[in-house]
Amino acid sequence: MGISVKNVSKRFGSFQAVDSVDLEIESGALVALLGPSGSGKSTLLRLIAGLETPDSGRIWLTGTDATHQSVQERNIGFVFQHYALFKHLTIRENIGFGLKIRKASPARIKARADELLELVQLSGLGDRYPSQLSGGQRQRVALARSLAVEPKVLLLDEPFGALDAKVRKDLRAWLRRLHDEVHVTTVFVTHDQEEAMEVADKIVVMNKGQIEQVGTAAEIYDRPASAFVMSFIGPVN
Ligand code: ADP
Ligand code: MG
Repeated sequence: MGISVKNVSKRFGSFQAVDSVDLEIESGALVALLGPSGSGKSTLLRLIAGLETPDSGRIWLTGTDATHQSVQERNIGFVFQHYALFKHLTIRENIGFGLKIRKASPARIKARADELLELVQLSGLGDRYPSQLSGGQRQRVALARSLAVEPKVLLLDEPFGALDAKVRKDLRAWLRRLHDEVHVTTVFVTHDQEEAMEVADKIVVMNKGQIEQVGTAAEIYDRPASAFVMSFIGPVN
């Protein structure tokens, strides 16, 4: 599903968190929202998800005006930085949770959960509990869970932020591979320029609620569109 954000603004009190944003994301793309803390990345992601309503502007999901659709109607999967799995449920039950509340049969739930466990390379761990997995493994379970109901869009808010550097690096490569297999339109938030450049096809650089530049890693690195982009992205030192 493609995403079209048209002149969207959102303020909290007198603070303009998202300011007249226009953004086109093609169906199947893997896009990073990159910017410093407080630049409006999470708010923009939550607006796309339907967890926030814009003050003005519209959000389209492939030809449908989704501006006032509920989260459920948008068919979007969401993973946050601290994505709590249900501690008292097994990994397989965690992954199948969304299917269960949609009244899928137990056989269907098990088949789908096992298929997703294989996809996230955790086959054989379905009967374990979250406390028996590492942080990186748990984040892969969270991703599998968000994919269980076959969302048309996957939104990830600093999904690897809480993990150590080595695990983060593995998960980046792994997210890239997952996307190449599943091709679901994916938007992920990060404040880490290296992460954005390594994972995304396209990077959206944000600052103070506005989009400074959209482009491939090479385009942004070689031809920064503003002084801000140059200082934020510029040569690593
Ligand atoms: P980022 O994800 O880039 O760090 P956010 O979109 O989370 O930025 O937030 C931008 C700013 O908007 C935050 O620093 C905060 O001041 C404000 N903000 C975000 N969400 C809320 C909220 N629910 N209530 C009040 N202020 C908020
Ligand atoms: Mg954020």
